[in-house]
Amino acid sequence: MQQDDPDITPVTETAPIATRTHGGRAKCLQRLTRLSLPVPRTTALSFRAVKDIAEGRMPDVACILAPFGDDPLLCVRPSSEDPDWGGPSAVLNIGMNDATHAALSERIGTEAATRLYNRFVRSYAIHVERLDPDMFEDLPVTGPEALAESFRAYHEETEQDFPQDAATQLAAVLRSMARAWRGTTARLLRQAKGAPADAGLGLVVQEMALGLGKTGECGSGVIQLASSGTGLPRITGRYLSQSQGREALQGDSRSMFLARDARGPSLEDLAPEAFATLAEYSRLMRYRLREEMQCEFTIENGNVHVLDGVRASRSARAAVRMAVRLAEDGVIPRDEALCRVDPRALNEMMHRQVDPSAKRDLIGTGIAASPGAASGRLCFSAADAQAAQSRGEACILARRETGPEDIRGMHAAVAVITERGGATSHAAVIGRGLGLPCVVGLTGLQFDMKTERLIARDGRNFRAGDMITVDGTHGDVLAGEAPLHEASQDAAFQAMLTWAEDYCDIGIRANADTPADAETARKFGADGIGLCRTEHMFFESGRLTVMREMIFADAPDDRRTSLERLLPMQRADFTDLFRIMQGRPVCIRLFDPPLHEFLPSDREGLRELAESLSRPLSDVTRRAEQLSEYNPMLGMRGVRLGITVPEIYDMQARAIFEATIAASEDGVPVVPEIMIPLVSARREVELVKTRVDAVAAAVRNETGKDFSFRLGVMVETPRAALRAGEIAPHAAFLSFGTNDLTQMTYGLSRDDAGKFMSTYVKQGVYPEDPFHTLDHEGVGELLTIGAERGRAARPDLVLSICGEHGGNAESIAFCRAAGFDYVSCSPFRVPIARLAAAQLNIRPTLPPRALKTS
Ligand code: PEP
Ligand code: MG
Repeated sequence: MQQDDPDITPVTETAPIATRTHGGRAKCLQRLTRLSLPVPRTTALSFRAVKDIAEGRMPDVACILAPFGDDPLLCVRPSSEDPDWGGPSAVLNIGMNDATHAALSERIGTEAATRLYNRFVRSYAIHVERLDPDMFEDLPVTGPEALAESFRAYHEETEQDFPQDAATQLAAVLRSMARAWRGTTARLLRQAKGAPADAGLGLVVQEMALGLGKTGECGSGVIQLASSGTGLPRITGRYLSQSQGREALQGDSRSMFLARDARGPSLEDLAPEAFATLAEYSRLMRYRLREEMQCEFTIENGNVHVLDGVRASRSARAAVRMAVRLAEDGVIPRDEALCRVDPRALNEMMHRQVDPSAKRDLIGTGIAASPGAASGRLCFSAADAQAAQSRGEACILARRETGPEDIRGMHAAVAVITERGGATSHAAVIGRGLGLPCVVGLTGLQFDMKTERLIARDGRNFRAGDMITVDGTHGDVLAGEAPLHEASQDAAFQAMLTWAEDYCDIGIRANADTPADAETARKFGADGIGLCRTEHMFFESGRLTVMREMIFADAPDDRRTSLERLLPMQRADFTDLFRIMQGRPVCIRLFDPPLHEFLPSDREGLRELAESLSRPLSDVTRRAEQLSEYNPMLGMRGVRLGITVPEIYDMQARAIFEATIAASEDGVPVVPEIMIPLVSARREVELVKTRVDAVAAAVRNETGKDFSFRLGVMVETPRAALRAGEIAPHAAFLSFGTNDLTQMTYGLSRDDAGKFMSTYVKQGVYPEDPFHTLDHEGVGELLTIGAERGRAARPDLVLSICGEHGGNAESIAFCRAAGFDYVSCSPFRVPIARLAAAQLNIRPTLPPRALKTS
């Protein structure tokens, strides 16, 4: 073996070792060597060398052994490019044979030497010869008879004596580890963690530092300087006298703490000097390797050896704290700290989560539509949810699917589950807006709404009043009350958001419909409101009846009378929003849904409505039937209503302008943005614009106050994207509503796709749910066409997206690249979008960081 042979090289300060060719562990060991830490002699085998071994081309093992002297004792560990991709288990004490056993007995005592030999024989039998571990299960584990039994079992199975030659042993270990990496299970496991199909494996062969002996303190353990659970600075780990490898972590009651601890004995008390040295080494590693590390160490006769360093595992919350502390301590710059956290990990800090270590009694899985977790008693109607809330009871609303009628029930519930629906169905959109955990498309769980029962696959029934837990982060429904971790937006979270703002080069607005949403948006640092869905305001108590009166009005004048009663309510809504947003832009979408959504869907509801309108039930039923459509999402909604029933938009425009005047009087001047939904033709825009301009002129005349506003178009139909060139001259901005645009581009119902989406994704028809991750190819092409044609016609055209994709990192990357001005997403996703956008600006060529928490 030559110093300059890159494939089998001793790990020295200058050896040609790289993560890409030898793996993360080998590279880390070289870095530790460069820090002059006491790392036992090590040799690194490159990916190429290991591939050769797997394919039967064994290198000269005598050459590998040579640097370790006569009668070496070695261990072999895996070294994949990213340590998180795992690898075969390490094998310790290679080289153990009858002769070394005798020599070691002198040095460390017969009992310890025999224990070590026995452990090697069993590990070799199981990991190298692939013998059944059960064979060794009932055998004694200590004493000479244990070793004899192991030899006997080995011989019985292999019909050979246990190999005594170190080269034979090492060659067999290398071969078995190289081949294990190629196994299907190992490949699938690492691919699930983001490894490419052809990821390589390196191996490191290291001299054993024993951790067993008769003189001075001997033992082994692991240490890290920050808690994996919380990320807070605290020396954690375990130490076990007379042990090897990671035995200290295996629950032995003699394992001790590292730093002095009221709960039990510690290494600091037992061997203060070794502890101090170890802590010093760990600080040096953190500083020079620029990461919170976990160090595996051995103490031999009081002397510390550093065997290995790996990136400390971390929960999502800990990842944020660790990155921020490293930056605050000057170890890494802020931009690097920002890139070390997966944006999705912020979810864990904004919503409660099921304790990851808790047992999960899973009763159903569906689409994880809105993150967070909550436990509560099951209820099956919005009215029951409101009743539960008034009794002070946490409840979970279960519906086949939700509609506008359920909004008040959703407000009252702590979580929502639906049998139907997908990532952009009603429950999902509202759930995300409210920060309410939500799972939709629960196909495995049967919803029997008549008898108010959920029937799980295993036959269990859950009735109204039964306690369940919804895990919206993972799309799971659990029986009973699972232990939860509280959300906490601590100082590290805030620091990360503030730093992200400095690096973010695309606007991040929030979709906010109510003052409460707007407050949340402000709290999370939104640059404005990108979409206010005004129809949600009409479902509040007291308004729905007036709305229904308006729908039932036969003549425009009657309709206007009802709308006059809605006007002050809308004006108050908008004034509140403008005040909360303090001069930041607020984009208000004019009325969008089909009118029949405001009518009761059952006979009882229709009867109550007839009562309140003092009309015969037959009248009310007939009107409801007239309004029903075969395809309501493609029917009389959006701008089509604005043109055929123009009084609604007139009222809304007036409310917006009067609120503008009111909010500007006592605050920062407001320039409202008004958005027309579901446009498909230029003429629609011209007609609405003429009326809105007329209302503006009337309000200016009546009040004697001037104001400006911006009128824009929501691009939700493929035609609007294609005709953007002729629409843009009439619009100050185009905002792509990618929920409807995806629905219409694919011809795929956003409310029904959940039923078969997982089959489609599993079979590779779609790479991902296009309602969740923007389809760059199809819908994306429409976005690009719309943006290019729009900007060509009007260079100052403001471009944005306001569909649910606005909060998704890959979609933000697309919008940034296409020159969009901002994205708009639900308020709780603003921090995630902000961090993702900052990362894209800092490292434009890298995909958003893969989730690296454990
Ligand atoms: C959209 O269609 O993308 C959108 C934002 O509007 P909504 O979800 O209200 O239909
Ligand atoms: Mg829409």
